[in-house]
Amino acid sequence: MLTASIAFAATLGLLPTEWATHVAQVAMAKDALGFRAFETGTGRCPEVAKRCYGLAVHVVTSEGTPEGTPVQTPLWLYEQIAHANALFAVISVGFEVASVDTLPAEVGDVQTRKDRDALGKDVFGRGAVHVFVVERLADVDIAGEVIRGVHWRYRPDTAKRWVILSSIAKSTVMAHELGHFFGLPHSTYDVSIMNKRPRPLPWPDRVFAKPEVEIMRRRSGEMLAEGMLKNRRRRRR
Ligand SMILES: [Zn+2]
Repeated sequence: MLTASIAFAATLGLLPTEWATHVAQVAMAKDALGFRAFETGTGRCPEVAKRCYGLAVHVVTSEGTPEGTPVQTPLWLYEQIAHANALFAVISVGFEVASVDTLPAEVGDVQTRKDRDALGKDVFGRGAVHVFVVERLADVDIAGEVIRGVHWRYRPDTAKRWVILSSIAKSTVMAHELGHFFGLPHSTYDVSIMNKRPRPLPWPDRVFAKPEVEIMRRRSGEMLAEGMLKNRRRRRR
């Protein structure tokens, strides 16, 4: 865990000591702010990001309220977002939490396609990427198996789509699912985070391959034009 964190810190250009300080700060923020740390302790879009997209985050908690215990921590979400921001910098895109609310424990075990549809059915809206943080996410193709994340299209209207993250997801999972959100299928590029085949390159070192970058850049512009995403970056004078 510690080794993984240090390796991850290196991808952000942080020294291990700086990373440790940051982790401590986030932990304190969590204690001080409770559930609000999902918003205040998860980072803002990096300066380099000309396009800053909001994440509408929905977190399952034990009580279905901000007072309940969330299925994952603000620090975990921070790592997911930071990794996505590191990988999307290549198209000058960043992500930050725009809103956060809670979901009841009953919907935290996502077993069926119907369950995946139900998560976003009433709360989906355009303008941000909706991200659902659930306790368990079943593999709907293989009985008894679980997966770490999915980019899901609402079956009655496939223009509506969202990201579902399982509480067991490692920090690279959201970046992969956002790759799907930005139009990418799975690939066979050696360097790519969209290539799921086992190979020596560890997940934290996987990036987007050049042709994938081009697709994402185009989709980013299209989604802005369509209103699927909004740029939260204020225009500088
Ligand atoms: Zn995938």
